[in-house]
Amino acid sequence: MSTVELPDPTVRPRPFHLLAKPTGAVCNLDCTYCFFLSKELLYEGSRFRMAEELLDTYIRQLIEAHGPAPEVTVAWQGGEPTLMGLDFFRRSLEYERRYARPGQRIVNTVQTNGTLIDAKWARFFRDNDFLVGLSVDGPRELHDAYRVDKGGKPTFDRVMRGLEHLRAHGVRWNALTTLHDANAGHGREVYAFLRDDCGAEHMQFIPIVERATARELPLANDGWGARAKDRPLYRQEGDRVTDRSVTGEQYGRFLVDVFEDWVRHDVGRVYVQMFDVALANWYGEQPSLCVHSRTCGSALALEHNGDLYSCDHFVEPDHLLGNIGERHLLELVDSPRQRSFGEAKETTLPRYCLDCDVRFACHGGCPKDRFATTPDGEPGLNHLCAGFKAFFQHIDTPMRTMATLLRQGRAPALIMRQYADTDARRPHNAPCTCGGGRKWARCHGRPVAARRS
Ligand code: SF4
Ligand code: SF4
Repeated sequence: MSTVELPDPTVRPRPFHLLAKPTGAVCNLDCTYCFFLSKELLYEGSRFRMAEELLDTYIRQLIEAHGPAPEVTVAWQGGEPTLMGLDFFRRSLEYERRYARPGQRIVNTVQTNGTLIDAKWARFFRDNDFLVGLSVDGPRELHDAYRVDKGGKPTFDRVMRGLEHLRAHGVRWNALTTLHDANAGHGREVYAFLRDDCGAEHMQFIPIVERATARELPLANDGWGARAKDRPLYRQEGDRVTDRSVTGEQYGRFLVDVFEDWVRHDVGRVYVQMFDVALANWYGEQPSLCVHSRTCGSALALEHNGDLYSCDHFVEPDHLLGNIGERHLLELVDSPRQRSFGEAKETTLPRYCLDCDVRFACHGGCPKDRFATTPDGEPGLNHLCAGFKAFFQHIDTPMRTMATLLRQGRAPALIMRQYADTDARRPHNAPCTCGGGRKWARCHGRPVAARRS
């Protein structure tokens, strides 16, 4: 298997990112909204463990495919990658050392539900400078609404225990919070919890959009894991969404609610991916997130058996590029098929997006969510459009201010002084700046107290 050679060693590859799933979709939890769990159906009968030989092949090809790049990221994702055990990751580090070019830095990241993290894992992550993404959906009731184990039991306490180990060992970590019908209406509370109770300095908010056809919707509403009977294989098909999915309006409200607190207190101190991405677009730089970039196709997914897919959200037969045991990773990443997958993000935008005043910031969102219809009847509009529009329009003035500060070589955090000055003069009964309809003093004008547990 490991004999596949680099197609042309002199080619300087374009940058790409790859999420590898060493256990495939297999996880020790059974989060109701996690449609990735159904991807087990693609590999029925598999042991769902990345074999030693494939690990060697993968790390070698990944490093080769980055050519002389000074840095290569090895990103582990699931399912739940910690189910592989520590030795798997130790061996991965050995291969990294074997194949890295002199002076090349290899960065390791892992996305985990945190429930298996103990002191040993935390020490390993710290000693090897892993960046850990921890899935946590908010305070107890909001987290436990859907993040449950195979017996349907809540997981909040186990995740918090895992987080304590990470923090006690000084591991670098990010909070990854999915937004769904249970927590999307609690933006300020979720944010305060992550920042104050969890001590998160980096946060990502991921909207849950579980798509289904009318026929599959009742099954989809039951969930995608082992507890659901007759679960279908999740595909990006249909124009319905499950009851758990966020609406555009909920998503926009959540982001505005968080932004209004962040821009007053935490600029430069807490990094919220969506706000960083927005600032990059206002500043005129390429953002780090494919969803709000002009094109995509540089974030691929590798299954436990070496199958490479166009994107983590398109692990389905139509988007299988090939297997790295048969063709080199670089050949697949650079294939015309993958390029057209990425370009389609821009070329398939409906007229409504092309004419949109915030397209430079939105870029139509992720193609997986483009199953709505525009007001003039054209298909291909993003399910979350109303939220994108509301949020990007809402932040226009502060984003312009921060982009100007950046251009002047000054810290965007200076915007907090402007907010403090204006807020000091704001009458208590003035409408809140978030546009939610409540009075200032009863809304963002007063701090939010997080539910501790
Ligand atoms: S399909 Fe969506 S998630 Fe996948 S690379 Fe494109 S924008 Fe990113
Ligand atoms: S806000 Fe809506 S209309 Fe504008 S680019 Fe985004 S998805 Fe398209």
